[in-house]
Amino acid sequence: MKKLLIGNWKLNPTDEATAKKLFSGIKTKASRLRKVKTIICPPSVYVSALAKGATSKCAVGAQDLFWEVKGAFTGQVSAPMIKRLGADYVIVGHSEMRAQGDTNETINKKIKKAFEYRLQVILCIGESERDHDGHYLEFLQNELKEGLYKIPKKLLRNLIVAYEPIWAIGAKAKAASTPQDFLEKSIFIRKVLSHIADKDTAMKIPVLYGGSVNEKNAEGFLTEGKADGLLVGRASLSKDSFNEMLGIAERVK
Ligand code: PEP
Repeated sequence: MKKLLIGNWKLNPTDEATAKKLFSGIKTKASRLRKVKTIICPPSVYVSALAKGATSKCAVGAQDLFWEVKGAFTGQVSAPMIKRLGADYVIVGHSEMRAQGDTNETINKKIKKAFEYRLQVILCIGESERDHDGHYLEFLQNELKEGLYKIPKKLLRNLIVAYEPIWAIGAKAKAASTPQDFLEKSIFIRKVLSHIADKDTAMKIPVLYGGSVNEKNAEGFLTEGKADGLLVGRASLSKDSFNEMLGIAERVK
């Protein structure tokens, strides 16, 4: 399986010219790699411009979608709209969208609609805090079970799961998680996925780590943590940092 390196640009950069320049700088590096697939998720207004230059090694994704395809839904963007703009992927359930009201139920509707329009889904899950009794594991299990409720098994081959503990994401995070901890969580995630679908399907779903990843800690998550890839926020806005991570992902065994 190729390593997946996903850049979530969030509400950045502030203009299209800068977005195109950053994408092109990343694509140059990404195009030379055999063992890595790069997916850049810019704000949706830049998807079309970047998708014109997308390749099989450097694809474009959107950061969210709405579950209806037309009607009185101010501010929303539909699955067919982002697909037509050239996105092949879409992030669903990011903690910043959950904080704005997304629930496991709305996430489930979004995933179903994304699959209907042949978008591959990057489903983000993650707890906001840890507790000694392990209730957070139940929370993660529910995010998967409810988010993937009644989705046919065969569609799950279009799913990527990103484990992003909320306490490890963004500028306010104290630190990233650790490779060992990610490894344990990814085993747990695969176990839940094998109950939702079956073992064979679960083993084929890439499980990524996200949360304060940078060029210094990327290698640990990919080797010791055995991550199938990384979902990168802040460090994906620096061409040099992101390209260094691409090089690391190409080199690791
Ligand atoms: C994210 O928000 O998906 C993320 C991983 O952010 P950061 O890398 O900046 O912690």
